[in-house]
Amino acid sequence: MTGSMERMDTFWQPLADLKARIDAAGGFVNAHAHFDRAYSVLTEDFDSHRVESHLHEKWKLVDEYKERTQTEGFFAHIWMALRAQADQGVKHSLSFIDVDPLVGTKALDAAVKARELAARELHMRFLIASQTLKGVVEPEARRIFEENLDRIDVIGGLPGADRGRESEHLDVLLEAVKKSGKRAHIHVDQLNSPQEKETELLCRKIMKWGVEGKVTAVHSISVASHKREYRNQVYQMARDAGLSFVACPSAWIDHRRSDEMQPVHNAVTPVDELIPAGLTVALGTDNIADVYKPYSDGNMMVELRMILESCHFYDRNALVHMATAAGKHVLGVS
Ligand SMILES: [Zn+2]
Repeated sequence: MTGSMERMDTFWQPLADLKARIDAAGGFVNAHAHFDRAYSVLTEDFDSHRVESHLHEKWKLVDEYKERTQTEGFFAHIWMALRAQADQGVKHSLSFIDVDPLVGTKALDAAVKARELAARELHMRFLIASQTLKGVVEPEARRIFEENLDRIDVIGGLPGADRGRESEHLDVLLEAVKKSGKRAHIHVDQLNSPQEKETELLCRKIMKWGVEGKVTAVHSISVASHKREYRNQVYQMARDAGLSFVACPSAWIDHRRSDEMQPVHNAVTPVDELIPAGLTVALGTDNIADVYKPYSDGNMMVELRMILESCHFYDRNALVHMATAAGKHVLGVS
């Protein structure tokens, strides 16, 4: 025990220790974001209560921003986000970038330019995943997705965007994984509801297409709202499918109060079960200061703190791994 006259900064602090070990391990990997919309929220979005809309409504609300914003504008948003990430020691990052019939390639053109500049000026490896907010089943949406495959690093997916046709959505994406050899990151089980079984569906589709080890599930929060027996079945399937995960705790910790009966848990990716089950989980910020998450500032330490607290997961080595090596694994970089 040190004496009372000892300076405060000489005491060991677990959180500061985590940050030092993350820096020593090569810096944070932000494995999931939407930089093309970062810092796009406006005072009008608060005044009109748009920030209070349901997730599925917000998918449409960003259309106005996408219509009025040109490539230079998207670049400014992406670049500001990348600089903010670099300032906190992020050395690798992956952002979904909207590529759909509405926005065309305006955001992607900006992201491609930012990818080159990030390597040169920020010494950061920045990877681009396609965000298919208009799905990939309708012919025009599918054409734009396929035409731009060569310009993206990771195939991105959002089965909920092809509501009622989620199975077809996954088939299109995983066929592209099979043909291109690229990895896929797919938003699944976001609503924290036992009505959702998208992680299970994703595992089945991975095995159907024979793309084991190539796919990462973003969120998989609803898994935690199912009973233990089902959760364990999903973890076994995820191991068989080589499915990895990205947790973005601030993205859904604000889940609305509901009277739906569920096992008691916080509305985050269940890392306290996934990691002991031998599964890889990386960390991401998801949306930053946009209509989805107006107060999110993209701080990786905040995300790390939030996941360790909300899952009561204190394993120091595993937390450093989640913030660094696991991120590189899901990005497919060494
Ligand atoms: Zn996302």
